[in-house]
Amino acid sequence: MALYYDAVIIGGSFAGLSAALYLARANRSVLVLDTGAPRNRFAAASHGFFAQDGSSPGAMIAAMRAQVSAYPTVTFIDRPAMDATRADAGFVVDLGSADTVRSSAILLAHGIADILPSLPGLAERWGRTVIHCPYCHGYEFKGQRLGVLNMSPMSIHQATLIPEWGPTIFFLDGAEIDDETAAMLGARGVAVEPAAVTGLIGEGTNLSAVALADGREIALDALYVGPRYQLNSDIARHLGCAIEDGPLGPIVTVDEMKATDVPGVYAAGDITRAGHTVTFACADGAMAALSIHRSLVFGNSL
Ligand SMILES: Cc1cc2nc3c(=O)[nH]c(=O)nc-3n(C[C@H](O)[C@H](O)[C@H](O)COP(=O)(O)OP(=O)(O)OC[C@H]3O[C@@H](n4cnc5c(N)ncnc54)[C@H](O)[C@@H]3O)c2cc1C
Repeated sequence: MALYYDAVIIGGSFAGLSAALYLARANRSVLVLDTGAPRNRFAAASHGFFAQDGSSPGAMIAAMRAQVSAYPTVTFIDRPAMDATRADAGFVVDLGSADTVRSSAILLAHGIADILPSLPGLAERWGRTVIHCPYCHGYEFKGQRLGVLNMSPMSIHQATLIPEWGPTIFFLDGAEIDDETAAMLGARGVAVEPAAVTGLIGEGTNLSAVALADGREIALDALYVGPRYQLNSDIARHLGCAIEDGPLGPIVTVDEMKATDVPGVYAAGDITRAGHTVTFACADGAMAALSIHRSLVFGNSL
């Protein structure tokens, strides 16, 4: 017979562990499934989360997990949730190899995966000198030579913001911009480089220059990108949850209590929003846990 938990949390990182902590403190049985690949694992340090500014992502999650593990009603299984289906009043979660567990509620907190451009030298610098969020890593490069790679219309917004942190070059990568956009970038002091970009150059994960198709190399210390992303799991789709098109990828639709439109299914963290930070993910997890607890006490209608 499949083991039963009040809630199965799919994803044991910032959102999932925050939810597990709150549910554990409500004496509820929780299973946390995790594959150990938080989105910010490429960065040496995480910034902006109060009391942990500058800590390594791995150390933050290890500390969270150790604290959550102290509660006897929480179980961890370091395996992926393969699928989930509705059964009776709850759900059956498939762990693969014929193993299943049952639960009253499911929290989707499995995060997203960035789809990086296949530019030589870019992937190995991701989270170090190739970055996407100025609030996370911009301060470390303030006053240095900054670039923004044109990847989508969102890149124009990024290019107008980044001069807050230092002199900025917008690499059009062979594309064109209209006069109005050029004027807006000019007003922000952004230099525009039209040539196609062919690769990134530097020692180790450092960046020293961007190589262009015409043979020039433009000195640079950090390059901002705005990659599209995909959900780490199709379980939300399989359960029938509504999913919207966000500016850079899919967003699982939730209400202000982090409930999806499928009763008993909740979602938290990066998969539920366009702006992504550890702080938001932890807050989402806490809110989802309160919502799940109320549904366990009062039913899904409240
Ligand atoms: C390079 C980089 C640097 C960043 N730096 C910062 C920063 O400095 N400050 C900041 O606030 N934010 C930063 N972020 C954003 C931050 O990483 C995310 O907002 C945060 O990790 C979201 O937390 P989450 O719990 O929603 O998802 P994640 O942290 O991505 O966790 C999802 C978890 O679910 C697991 N999982 C996936 N699929 C399954 C499955 N099927 N079954 C079980 N488990 C599964 C994964 O292994 C992972 O452990 C950064 C992001 C990137 C890409």
